This record gives sequence, structure tokens and C-alpha cells, in this order.
Amino acid sequence: MTDSASLVRPDRRAELAAGLARVRTRIADACVAVGRDRTEVTMIAVTKTYPAADVIALAGLGVTDVGENRDQEAAPKAEQVALAGVAPRWHFIGRLQRNKVKSVVRYADVVQSVDSVRLASALDAATTGRRDRPLEVFVQVSIDGDPSRGGSVPDSADPDIGLGPVTAAVAASAGLRLAGLMAVAPLGWEPERAFARLATIAETVRAEHPQAVALSAGMSGDLEAAIGHGATHVRVGSALLGMRPTLR
Ligand SMILES: *Cc1c(COP(=O)(O)O)cnc(C)c1O
Repeated sequence: MTDSASLVRPDRRAELAAGLARVRTRIADACVAVGRDRTEVTMIAVTKTYPAADVIALAGLGVTDVGENRDQEAAPKAEQVALAGVAPRWHFIGRLQRNKVKSVVRYADVVQSVDSVRLASALDAATTGRRDRPLEVFVQVSIDGDPSRGGSVPDSADPDIGLGPVTAAVAASAGLRLAGLMAVAPLGWEPERAFARLATIAETVRAEHPQAVALSAGMSGDLEAAIGHGATHVRVGSALLGMRPTLR
């Protein structure tokens, strides 16, 4: 085992600690503003484009959940982190091609970007015999109904990407556990409007699947609005780790 602390430069550690303190304060304030208990909201540190050393440092600062959006980057990073003896919960939050599911189920505890029946089936098949407990799944929803940027479509009869068929497929899969919904506010929408709409969608899903209580919404720029509309998970990258060099 590597001495995990030795991988982290003290100045970077201090930078991450400061970012974490700021984000934790924002989350706590947002909870107070709407009368929610702080323990209802889990922060996922989105570490895409940042190295394994940052994940290790964040874990040392008490971060329990990390998010990644590309398998090519996440798989080796998760391996490095595990070799350092650090074990955060890994959330896969990016668009997922079916030829990557075998790799993703090796390290991911949660997949938040399931948006088709075909992807749900492929994930379920990939979990068979590989995991001792079901893979947690958040079904991704397209709040504006445009599937081109990912997400299943509410009120659609499409048997592959309709929200109803996708949630039903996940709920019926032995290898998967339907945790709830995930969404990104559509470009050009006020976060308040987007997350209010998402809350309504989540209510209709819970009427059918009472176990689907989780709601992953809110990022660096809009986590307050998401918490105001019931987010249980916020996915925070740049506010925590700094601006990424490229837009992803
Ligand atoms: C990158 C990313 C985030 C984090 O975005 P920030 O604005 O850096 O906080 C959250 N969710 C998804 C799906 C992402 O791809």
C-alpha cells in the first residue's frame, strides 16, 4: 500500500480544504433557508479532469462520494485510489455507452446516468456474478424533454427512452436498485424553474416506485436552487476543485 498522504502536496490540500469549507457552508445555508436537515444532502465531489491525488486528499478531508463522467479516465483513477487504500463511493455521472458497462461496474457503486431500457439491461447483465450487492441506479431525466444531451423523456411512450419504461426496467432488474432520479438543468433555463419541474417529475415516479427517494440535482452554479426543490445529492466540481481547463 502506498502512503496515501505522501501523494498529496500540502498546498493543494489547503486549496481543497478551503473549497470544501466554502461548498459545505453553501449547502448548510441552503438547507437552513428551506428548513431542511443538512444530513439529507450528500455532496458528490466531481473529480473529472483532476488526478487521483485530489480524490485521496478529498477523502482525507472527509469527502465520502466522488463522481466521474468518462470511463477512460475514471477506471485508472479508481484503481490508483484503491491502491492507496482509500475507498470512496464512486458515482458514474456521464453518458455511458453499452460497450463500457463491463468496465464501469467494476468500480462504480452508483450509476446516475441510466437513460434507456437498453442501457439498463446491459448494466444488469454486466452485474451478474460480478457484484455482491445490486448496483445503485439513478435514472437520468431530460427536464426539457430533449434527449440529445442525455436523459430519459417524461411523458413519452417511447419504449426505450421514455421515463416510465426506463424506471420500470431498472426496478425490475435483480442486479440494479432504483435509487431515484438525476438531472442537469437545461441550458437557458432558470434553475428554479428547472428544478421545480424536476420535483414534479420525481413525485410522479415515486407514486409508482416509492423506493426512488433520491434526487441528484444541482452543481457548482445552482446547488441552492436544487436543494430548495428537494435534491438529496448535489454534484459539485469546479466550486470545489477549481475551474477545469476544458468544458466537458
Ligand atoms: C461536470 C459535471 C458536474 C459538476 O459540474 P460543476 O459545474 O463543475 O460543479 C455535475 N454533473 C455532471 C453530470 C457533470 O458532468
